[in-house]
Formats: sequence, structure tokens, C-alpha cells
Amino acid sequence: MRHPPQQLKQNSTPLQGIKILLDPGHGGTETGARGPNGYTEKEVNLVVSKLLEKELIKRGATVYLTREDDREISLVERVDTINKIKPTVALSIHYNALPDWGDAINTKGVGMFWYHAQAHSLAIFLHNYLVAKLNRPSYGVFWNNLALTRPHITPSVLLELGFMINPDEFEWIENRQEQAKLAQILADGIVEWFATVN
Ligand SMILES: [Zn+2]
Repeated sequence: MRHPPQQLKQNSTPLQGIKILLDPGHGGTETGARGPNGYTEKEVNLVVSKLLEKELIKRGATVYLTREDDREISLVERVDTINKIKPTVALSIHYNALPDWGDAINTKGVGMFWYHAQAHSLAIFLHNYLVAKLNRPSYGVFWNNLALTRPHITPSVLLELGFMINPDEFEWIENRQEQAKLAQILADGIVEWFATVN
């Protein structure tokens, strides 16, 4: 009788032993950016974070969320959660808005923000992975001193997954199948990044 190779079983949970903190941006009265139909960034941040949580758990990770529902949490509280949990990586999930003078039609794409050197390769890897696998435009990878890139206890990256205000991009942002696909690809990207650093 044949037995499945043991290695296949091990590879099905490549994130075993890894703690990942997801921080869905905004919440409560703080809505974040708004799409053309009023869909708020705080909603899509939470939806995508929960989809990503499921995908990461499937791959063996232990996942923490800074919020599980629509509530306001301060930046200080979010950072405190990171410092308390000490995750292997921390990802803050956002979608972008534009200032009033911005060009909504021509501004689009996936952006990533990092601050400490330890987060640089994760930001670049996830950005390039999403752009390639989802065929999304690139907004860029930026060095920026933000509340949620500043934690140094762990590589901390802030993801801006698209522009709420761009009408074409917004169709993709609010589409349920696309949200699910994004979560899947992002989880695969996290697995592959860990494989490159280990
Ligand atoms: Zn935001």
C-alpha cells in the first residue's frame, strides 16, 4: 500500500509556529477613505483582514487582529498590541485616498510602507508579489516613519492595497471574488517570503 510522502503533509502548513498580527486600519467613526458609492475603507480593511486571517490559519499560522469588528482604536493601542503580542511580522491593512487636488483617474496601484531595515525586504517582496500575481499596477514601496511602520519589535509593513477613489480600481477593491483572491495571493506571498529568509 502506498503512503503519501510525509513531506507533502509538512508543506501544507508552512507557517506553523509563526505569529502574524493583522491590523485592519481605521474603524468606528474613523472611516478612512471612501469609494465612489460610499463604501468605506474601514469596511474593506476588515473584510480583507479576515479573509487573510483564514488563509494564514489554513497555512498553519497563528493570527491576531487588532480589531475584529467596526470599532475605533487609537494608533497607540494598535502599537501596544504589537508590542504585547510580539508577532513574527505585523501587517497594517489599508486602502489609499487622494488629496483633493489629486488625479483620481490616473492614480492607482499597490503601495507598501516600511521604516526599519528589518521590514524592507518584506515590503518589497509583498509589493512585487501582488503586482506580479494579481497583475495590479504598482504605486511603489516607500520608506516612511508612520505609527504602524515604527514598531521595531518585529518587521512591520503598512499595505495600501489600492486607491478607493479610482473608479476602475474601486471595482476591483469592492468585488468579493477579487477580495478573496487578494487574500489568497497575499498569504502565498507571506509563505514565500518566509521561505526566502529562512
Ligand atoms: Zn487608511
